[in-house]
Amino acid sequence: MNDINNQPVIFIVEDDKDLNELITFRISELKYKTVSTTYGKDALSKLADFQKALVLLDYKLPDISAEEFVSKIPSPDILFIIMTGYSDVNTAVKFMKLGARDYIVKDSAFLDQLPDIIKKVLNDIPTEKKLMLAENALIEIESSYKSLYENALVGILSIKLSNNTVLSVNGFGLKILGYKNANEINKNRKKWNKIISSETAKKIIYELRDKKEILNKELQIRRKDESLLWCLCSIKILEDKDKIEVIFFDITRRKEAEDRINDLIYYDQLTKLPNKELFNYHVQNEILKAEKRNKNDIFSIIFIGLDKFKNINNVYNPQTGNSLLMQIASRLKNIVFKNDTVSRYDGDKFCILFSDLASKDDIYILINKIQSVFSRNFTAKDIQFSLSATTGVSLYPDDGDTAETLIKNAEIAMDMAKERRIKNHFFDAELNAEVVRNFEIVNELKDAVVNEDFIVHYQPKVNYSGEITGFESLIRWMSKKRGMVPPMEFIPIAEKNGMIVDIENIVLRKSCRQNKKWQDSGSNPVKVAVNISAFHLKQPDFIDDILRELELTGLSPEWLELEFTESGIAENEKDSIAKINKLNKLGISVSIDDFGTGYSSLRRLKEYPIDTLKIDKSFVESIPFDKKSIKIAKAIIDLAHNLGFKVVAEGIEKRDQLDFLENNECDFYQGYYFSKPVPPEKIPENLKKSHTD
Ligand code: C2E
Ligand code: CA
Ligand code: CA
Repeated sequence: MNDINNQPVIFIVEDDKDLNELITFRISELKYKTVSTTYGKDALSKLADFQKALVLLDYKLPDISAEEFVSKIPSPDILFIIMTGYSDVNTAVKFMKLGARDYIVKDSAFLDQLPDIIKKVLNDIPTEKKLMLAENALIEIESSYKSLYENALVGILSIKLSNNTVLSVNGFGLKILGYKNANEINKNRKKWNKIISSETAKKIIYELRDKKEILNKELQIRRKDESLLWCLCSIKILEDKDKIEVIFFDITRRKEAEDRINDLIYYDQLTKLPNKELFNYHVQNEILKAEKRNKNDIFSIIFIGLDKFKNINNVYNPQTGNSLLMQIASRLKNIVFKNDTVSRYDGDKFCILFSDLASKDDIYILINKIQSVFSRNFTAKDIQFSLSATTGVSLYPDDGDTAETLIKNAEIAMDMAKERRIKNHFFDAELNAEVVRNFEIVNELKDAVVNEDFIVHYQPKVNYSGEITGFESLIRWMSKKRGMVPPMEFIPIAEKNGMIVDIENIVLRKSCRQNKKWQDSGSNPVKVAVNISAFHLKQPDFIDDILRELELTGLSPEWLELEFTESGIAENEKDSIAKINKLNKLGISVSIDDFGTGYSSLRRLKEYPIDTLKIDKSFVESIPFDKKSIKIAKAIIDLAHNLGFKVVAEGIEKRDQLDFLENNECDFYQGYYFSKPVPPEKIPENLKKSHTD
């Protein structure tokens, strides 16, 4: 497909002209010839001139449906990838079934992924195609041998069984075997067993006794020079039952071709390990075996993902990566038993089938064995590499009863381990449900961001006399499907995939606009505090985001406060402090949220250019019963005051919590005791209310 004389052409069929140009530009690095068009019919008529092409097909075209387009693709060598604007798994699945090589969701990252996807599709010969190539090769070889046979270019050998002697060999037979004549064979002590091992001979005779017809068999025959040949043998027992006749011809080349083809289809060419297909087959067999034997049979699949291996390929050259993969493969093979299967499953992923486990506890030993493979350094091109891997485990029969499920679940477990930054994870059905749910939420959130399906609730912060001194903005997602979703159910997910930046910009805008509105309507000006995630704080244009929203809404910076978490600041401390300093200069206040739960270094805390510490509600909650929380709350207040910070206690629900905090000179209070977070239209009431009422 990708040989130089026969390069495929890439068709970009996308009606959005800008996007079409962007795609064309993005894939220009691949140096394939491209044809861009905004109409499907136009593309189809142009495609007729090409033998090989890859079509990047927009799901929605102005003149023809994608389904119709696909049905009219003129040649099977024209591959296509479907590009969908919806994160709609069903569409993708539908088109994969219609023969799409892959699918792409046109999200913010897809342009960057495109070159890799194209490379993958164009270099990947599908299995059916491999099989077809293999079959063609076999037919060719078979037919050439047929013609040899017709021309009687076969060996013919007759043997007397009672004394093991060779009675006759024809000329071609002698040529194949390398002897001058039959006597030369008989001179040997083993006689015809010199040619066919006595064990095989016994089997043949046994089989021949049973039936009269000719027995056709592929056997290994030993030549005079001791080399072995694969021969197709046609064996007949003659009337007196003491004589057999063997017609044979050399099929060594065919056997080798078969082996080579099998090797291509079922083995990874770099490491010589079984590939995905063969591994799947082994797992299937293991299931069949286990089903036949007793029900207590367990076995395990361990999925192994190399950590940050792509970096090596990027920084060094592919040869270095390949050499490391080969070393890993051979080390992995060394740690397993004969009946286990190690597979190079995909790129930087390996998979091992450990058959016949005595108990589940064995798995810990296996995981340790795998980790031990990575405890020693690897060397490639005189450079030392320290590599590591993450594993995921699935167990038969607990985690699935088909090969696909068991392997997929082991992979899910590995992904889970990577996500949690741990070395190993067992498959867990509940976790899986969580992964599926998170995936759905990510997709729904994309639309929510576009439609701004978020509202902000405001929770007052009050002072000692119960006057409102500020508000905290707390987001709620108004999902059409799920109703009002609380932040803890989607903020962590949005943080993980970066959508949080867009979401927080929406919250910033709404909060600043609302605060400005209150001020314009004559209320006492107070600060509105917006929560900012670690991810957003890390972004180079974070400060620009803040300035833009202030400018857009006309709120003066002194009325904006930002809440960062302790751990968020610590994640990237130098950069965080520099940014907080900038905010300070701009007149924007900063507080540290959830204080006491992170791992702040008290030594560095005094260098933080912040205004306020918020005592986490987990401490407030257990006041006045829990001595430890009381001590911590007191200590935080003292510490903050010594460093010149104000203190806010959040999560106050009861009078005695408030009394305790007041006695210890906490500056501001926030909690259900005063008000839950409420929509802005409910605020004026609260503004007037004081806790002493
Ligand atoms: P947080 O910043 O610690 O916000 C305080 C949370 O405590 C809020 O929960 C609030 O409703 C709740 N709370 C306040 N007073 C009381 C009380 O007396 N008792 C109890 N039990 N809870 C009280 P909410 O609104 O569910 O928000 C949860 C978290 O979601 C927030 O914790 C914050 O980490 C995150 N969050 C909310 N909005 C945003 C946002 O715009 N950006 C980011 N990054 N995070 C947000
Ligand atoms: Ca907060
Ligand atoms: Ca908090």
